Amino acid sequence: MLSIDQVGWIEKEIPEIGPYDALCRPIALAPCTSDIHTVYSGAIGDRHNMILGHEAVGEVVKVGSLVKDFKVNDKVLVSAITPDWNSLAAQESYAMHSGGMLGGWKFSNFKDGVFAEYFHVNDADGNLAHLPEGMDLGAACMISDMVPTGFCGVELADINFGDNVAVIGIGPVGLMAVAGAAIRGAANIYAVGSRQNCIELAKEFGATEIINYKQGDIVNQIFEKTNGQGVDRIVIAGGNNDTFEQAVKILKPGGKIGNVNYLGEGDYIKIPRVEWGCGMGHKQIVGGLMPGGRLRSEKLARLVQTGRIHPEKMVTHVFHGLDKVEDALMLMKNKPQDLIKPLVLVD
Ligand code: NDP
Ligand code: ZN
Repeated sequence: MLSIDQVGWIEKEIPEIGPYDALCRPIALAPCTSDIHTVYSGAIGDRHNMILGHEAVGEVVKVGSLVKDFKVNDKVLVSAITPDWNSLAAQESYAMHSGGMLGGWKFSNFKDGVFAEYFHVNDADGNLAHLPEGMDLGAACMISDMVPTGFCGVELADINFGDNVAVIGIGPVGLMAVAGAAIRGAANIYAVGSRQNCIELAKEFGATEIINYKQGDIVNQIFEKTNGQGVDRIVIAGGNNDTFEQAVKILKPGGKIGNVNYLGEGDYIKIPRVEWGCGMGHKQIVGGLMPGGRLRSEKLARLVQTGRIHPEKMVTHVFHGLDKVEDALMLMKNKPQDLIKPLVLVD
C-alpha cells in the first residue's frame, strides 16, 4: 500500500529481528477483504508505504537467540494476529488488544505485512505453529485468518446445541462461521448471502436455509422462516452499518450477536431502540478481533487434519509467484461472482 487508494511494489530493507522473533519467507499467501478495507476505504486511517497482507504459510529463515521451538527451514502456519503474549492484555485474556485496541493486529496495520520476500514475526514461539506434514497449502493458509475469524464469530455469539443461528455474510469468513456453528451444535443455520458458489459451499458446510439479501429484507425473510420467533444467535461476517439494525430485530431476547465484520466506513452504527427492548432486551452485541496465536492455530489445524473442516474448498483461484499477489488483491477488490478466496503459491 503506497497510500490510501494506491497499491504498488516497494523496495525495503530486510527486517531486523529481536531475540524472541523470527524472519520468514512466504510459501503461500492470501489477500483478505480487510486489505481492501485498509487500502480503499482507509478504514484504519492513513498508511504510507506499508506492506500489505496478513495471511501466510511461511518458512523460517532466521530466528532470534531466545526462540525455543522453531528453527531455520521449519515450515510454519503464521497467525494473522500476532499478540505480545507477555502483556497485561494477554493476562486479561484479550491478547489481541496487547499494546492498545487492536494492537495484536500488527501485520499490515502497525508494521509491514507478509506480501514481501521476507517478513518479521514477533514472539515466534507464541505466534507461529508448525505446518503439519502433508497439509494442503490452501487449507493451511486459511488457518491464518479465515478459519480463526469465522470461529471467533461463533465463540462471540456463544452458539450452543440446538440454537437457531443466522450467519450474515457467507464470504470465506462467514462460511467458516457456518462450519463452526455446525460443529457447535446449531440446529437451524440461516446463511445470508447471494453469490452462488458461496451458497453452495454454505450448504455443504452446514447451512440449513439460504437467505438472499438481494431478494428482500432479511428481517422479513428470517421472521417468515422462524414463525416470527427470530433466532437465538447471530454471527455478522458481512453487510454494512445497517446490518446491526437488522440483526437486533431478528434476535430473540437473551440472544447474542457476534460481529467479526470489519466496519470500513461511516461514524456510527444504528441500534433500534424499541427492538433492543428500550435498552432492556438482554440482546448482547459483541464485536471482536480474532485471538491469534500458536495454540489456536494448532487446534484449528487438528480440525483440518481430522477432516472436520475443509477450508481448502474456499480457494477458488490459485496464482503462482510472489509478483501475482497484485492480481490476487485486485480479484479480492472486484469480487467476481466465481471468487471465494484467491491463493498465491510463492514457489
Ligand atoms: P466477503 O466480502 O467475501 O463476504 C461478505 C459477505 O457479506 C458476502 O456473503 C456478501 O454477499 C454479504 N453481504 C454483502 N452485503 C450484504 C448486505 N447488505 N446484507 C447481508 N449480507 C451482505 O468478505 P470476507 O468473508 O472475506 O470477510 C468478511 C468480513 O470480515 C470483512 O469485513 C473482513 O474485513 C472481516 N474480517 C475480520 C476479521 C476479524 O478478526 N474480526 C479478520 C478477517 C476479516 P454476496 O454473496 O452478495 O457477496
Ligand atoms: Zn484477513
